[in-house]
Amino acid sequence: MGKSSELSGFYKLPVTDRVKTLKEFVGLSEEEAALLQKPGALGFDAANRMVENVIGVMPVPMGVAVNFLINGRDLVVPMAIEEPSVIAAASNAAKMSRPKGGFHATTTEPVMIGQIQVVGIKDPNRARFEILAQKAEILKHANAQDPVLISLGGGARDLEVRIIETSQGTMVIAELLVDCRDAMGANAVNTMAEAVAPLIEKISGGRVYLRIISNLAVKRLARAKAIFTKEALGGADVVDGIVNAYAFAAADPYRCATHNKGIMNGVTAVVLATGNDTRAIEAGAHSYAARLGRYTSLTTWEKDESGDLVGTLEMPMAVGLVGGATASNPIAKIAVKILGIKTARELAEIIVSVGLAQNLAALRALAAEGIQRGHMGLHARNVAISVGATGDLIDKVAAQMVAERKVRMDRAKELLAELSKS
Ligand code: NAD
Repeated sequence: MGKSSELSGFYKLPVTDRVKTLKEFVGLSEEEAALLQKPGALGFDAANRMVENVIGVMPVPMGVAVNFLINGRDLVVPMAIEEPSVIAAASNAAKMSRPKGGFHATTTEPVMIGQIQVVGIKDPNRARFEILAQKAEILKHANAQDPVLISLGGGARDLEVRIIETSQGTMVIAELLVDCRDAMGANAVNTMAEAVAPLIEKISGGRVYLRIISNLAVKRLARAKAIFTKEALGGADVVDGIVNAYAFAAADPYRCATHNKGIMNGVTAVVLATGNDTRAIEAGAHSYAARLGRYTSLTTWEKDESGDLVGTLEMPMAVGLVGGATASNPIAKIAVKILGIKTARELAEIIVSVGLAQNLAALRALAAEGIQRGHMGLHARNVAISVGATGDLIDKVAAQMVAERKVRMDRAKELLAELSKS
């Protein structure tokens, strides 16, 4: 029988003792334990304050995408991601956008929705009316929770009330609309939603259960647009191929999941590099893509009257520059510095531009040459490294596998054995 994973008192141990416990529990080598304890820039003290039961830090490569011209400003964009090709593809697409002025991006005000769920109401329309009638009082109480946010020009702006039918009967959902300024806002909004819940119970006569932010941030959207000339893309055929690839994604959820995943390759990498909440953005993206009742593309691609390709991306973008890991991770702070930005809205505009670039790169590769060609070179290097190739041998093994169109571990092992002899 295996050992129980109920490591009682684990959380009370210092980090070194946690690693020791884990080393014994799963049989880690000295080397592995030492590696875990080499966290790099994010020190143990910081990591230990961020989450629970810390035993190490998971490093992810961070690179920068180049060639970006966004709203008339040239910039390099930090991207943290483990997948090869993504940063190169974004840089390549950014380059192709330049002849027509790069990316143009806008954002709405940074307004998040906080939901308050009220149950047990017989006359929901009466309750809705009464909650709305007391809107000023409810907003005042919400705003009393966060004087800092108010002083910065943010705060609860409005209140909406919806009635929904559920398997547990009719529910009344009150929604606080909160301008979060440069914060992602989950803590700020949740605090306000919790604070006004007793008032809403009193007014409605119902019982409040959940009080929580919604990641379907339809009031906090970011939009990007770019034009790619047919010359930059490689011809009129490529434009048609991309428009057709987009039509496939827009019509078919199986294709669209992968299409939107390609957008998120760029989006999530910047979100992660800046210490923002990747799950919040992913949840917002996919729920927004399905908001009309059918899952569809976050981007659009059209051919304009000159035969050039016009792309747009619109999605919720709840990112911040204060709070969460954005403030506590030194690498995230460096990433923000590299971007040279002062507001969360500027960050959101950069992120959607990268998402649009990433989608263009993937669609162009698919439509023009098949995705594997570009991917395979980098993938082959990773396969070579995974079978133990080092130094010059990495590129030699990789190049041979690509030439043979056999990028596989078994072939990498054979080639490594052959090439190390010679
Ligand atoms: P936070 O509470 O740490 O910081 C926000 C606060 O900072 C504001 O309320 C304000 O008082 C202050 N502030 C200072 N300068 C500001 C400025 N320029 N603009 C705005 N506010 C300023 O963080 P948060 O953004 O409220 O919450 C983000 C965290 O919540 C993330 O770590 C996220 O992972 C987590 N979270 C997410 C969810 C979700 O997405 N569903 C749920 C719960 C928690």
